[in-house]
Order: sequence, then structure tokens, then C-alpha cells
Amino acid sequence: MGYRAINFSAGPSTLPEEVLKKAAAEMLNYEGTGESVMEMSHRSAEFQKIIDDAEQNLRDLMNIPDDYYVLFLQGGGTLQFSMVPINLLTNSKKADYIITGNWAKKAYEEAQKFGDIRALASSADKNFSYIPKFKKEDIREDVDYVYVCYNNTIYGTHYNEVPDVGDHLLVADMSSCVLSEEIDVTKFGLIYAGAQKNVAPAGVTIVIVRKDLVGHAPENTPIYLDYAIHAKKGSMYNTPPCYSIYMAGEVFKYLKSIGGVKEMHERDVRKAGKLYDYLDHSEMFTPTVAKEDRSLMNVTFVTGDPELDKKFVAGARERGMLNLAGHRTTGGMRASIYNAMPEEGVDALIAYMKEFEDENK
Ligand code: PMP
Repeated sequence: MGYRAINFSAGPSTLPEEVLKKAAAEMLNYEGTGESVMEMSHRSAEFQKIIDDAEQNLRDLMNIPDDYYVLFLQGGGTLQFSMVPINLLTNSKKADYIITGNWAKKAYEEAQKFGDIRALASSADKNFSYIPKFKKEDIREDVDYVYVCYNNTIYGTHYNEVPDVGDHLLVADMSSCVLSEEIDVTKFGLIYAGAQKNVAPAGVTIVIVRKDLVGHAPENTPIYLDYAIHAKKGSMYNTPPCYSIYMAGEVFKYLKSIGGVKEMHERDVRKAGKLYDYLDHSEMFTPTVAKEDRSLMNVTFVTGDPELDKKFVAGARERGMLNLAGHRTTGGMRASIYNAMPEEGVDALIAYMKEFEDENK
């Protein structure tokens, strides 16, 4: 801590200090090339190694089988809201979506441009404070896929088990939880994640997609929106977001060096556990999410008094704890404690919460 603020931003968000230091050291001269990765041709042997290593390390970390492509794309999570339906609505052109918040809703609305899209379940009735249940029998029999947002960044909810969709294809937006827990990739047809939370600076979006699902987009699909093009060209049909891919690769190496996703998950459980435990016993702060659906990454809470919330957030800022205000649509507070948030950051937040509680009783 010290010279760096404790950054609770929901994304772009804090990155591992070790990775930032290595990137800084390599900024002007990457491995003796005399160039920065920012300046390097994506067609160079050096960059080819960067992207190949990044892919391999992600495959190792997530145990991604060979029958899945790993793509590094641009356009953020938002472009996946349209690429998913364009590429996967290939038979009935029907899909069922679970509405668990803003990002799921945006994906659902975008998909409606491309097919017959239905909301299978929603938690809008309680301001998205829980993960809605559904029965697999309620899924329309002939859907091309079922879509979920695995971790709801704004509301702080998370699927604590993989939803049972029977034999249907499952698609998940894991933008705000990728690499924070071990996931059985084979249960999903497609997983995507924008990088700017657990992976890298903004700019790259990871798509993990089963190979047999690729190559069926309509003929008039704009070239960038067809997974097949990116798969065929090793994510380099056009200039990729080189620096973000390099940073993602460095984060993957760092994760491997600490013991992989299993170790990371243990750390995440410990950090979030401390914070929820404090919230559950606090007389001032209340967590906003149903216990069984809580996110390890985005912890949302309120005092019940919007003025007090504001005072809390302002006081935190004075103490070097940034970005604790909840999303503009929810108010209250949100502490995003992604993989790179050190445990001391959470400890400092809890210490301040105690102090604030004593002073404002
Ligand atoms: N999905 C989730 C879960 C998100 O949190 C976000 C943005 N924070 C998005 C999608 C949209 O991503 P982007 O801003 O990269 O388009």
C-alpha cells in the first residue's frame, strides 16, 4: 500500500502490482528487442510468442480442452451481446435468457435483433438482489442456447453453481469473475469475458467457444463479427489489442506463479468472507444480496441513509480508498475486490468501516 491508492473500482480495476512493475521495467525495451510492446508489429515473431503464450497459459489455468477455441477480440463485453446471437442462433433462432441485471438485460435486448429471444427468469422484482431459479423443463425445447451473466458486477450476485440447463447449450458472460474460481469449461458452449476486471487493462475480450459451434454465422455477417474468421487467423485477422493481450499474458503468468486459479479462489474466498462477515454483524451496514447468491468479486452494501452513504464514500476517498460508490442505478456502496485486490486492501476497508460506524452511531 502506501504510494498507491486502494482501488475498489468495478473495472477498469486494480492489477497485480508485480505485473505493473514488470510491465514498467519492460516498457522501453521488451526482452532486448529495443521496442516497447506498444510499438511492436503484431506480425513480429516476438508478438506471436506473446499471444501464443497467453493462450497456452489461459488454457492451462482454466483447463480449456482442445475442442475449444480461445479468441482475443475487441469490442468489449458489449460486442459479445451481438456476436453471441449472430454466431449461435443457427437452428431454431430461439434463445432463452436469464435476466439478472443490467448487463444480462442489455445482452437480451441486443439478441432480440437477431431471433426469437425470451426471458426465462428474472430477478427484477427485487432489484436483482438474487439469482432467479428456473426449471430446466421451462427452457423451450428447441432453443439454440441459454444465456446467463455469471457474475453481476452492478448488483453483486453470482451463480454459485452452474445452472442446470439439461442438454441445452449454455453461454455465460464471465466478465467480472473469470479466473476467480475453477470452472468446468465443458459445461459451457461459450464463455466470454472482457479483460478490464480480472485480466488486463481494457481493450481485449476473451472468448472461449466450442469449435463445432463456430462457422455457422449467416453469410452477410460483418467480417469482424464472425468467430470463424478470428479462429482461422489466430485472433489476428486484423490488428489485435496487442498491449492488452501482453498484459493479460503477464497476469496469466503471475496467476500460475502463485498456484493457479485454485489458490486465487482461496484468497478470494478469504477476502470476501472477511468483508461479508463484517457486514453480517454490523449495526450500520447491510449487505444487499441474498446470502447464497453473493459475489466474491463485487460486494454491495448500504447504510439505509443515502446521505450517510455519501459521507462514507467521501471519507474513504480521503483515506486513499477509491471508487466505493455503488453503480449509479443502485446507489449505496460497492467494493469490487477482484483477484488483484490485496487482502490488506480489504482489511483497510473493514478498519475504516468500524471507525465510521463508531463515529456515526
Ligand atoms: N458484462 C459484464 C458482467 C460487465 O460487468 C460489463 C461492464 N462492466 C459488460 C458486460 C460490458 O462490458 P464492456 O464495457 O467491456 O462492453
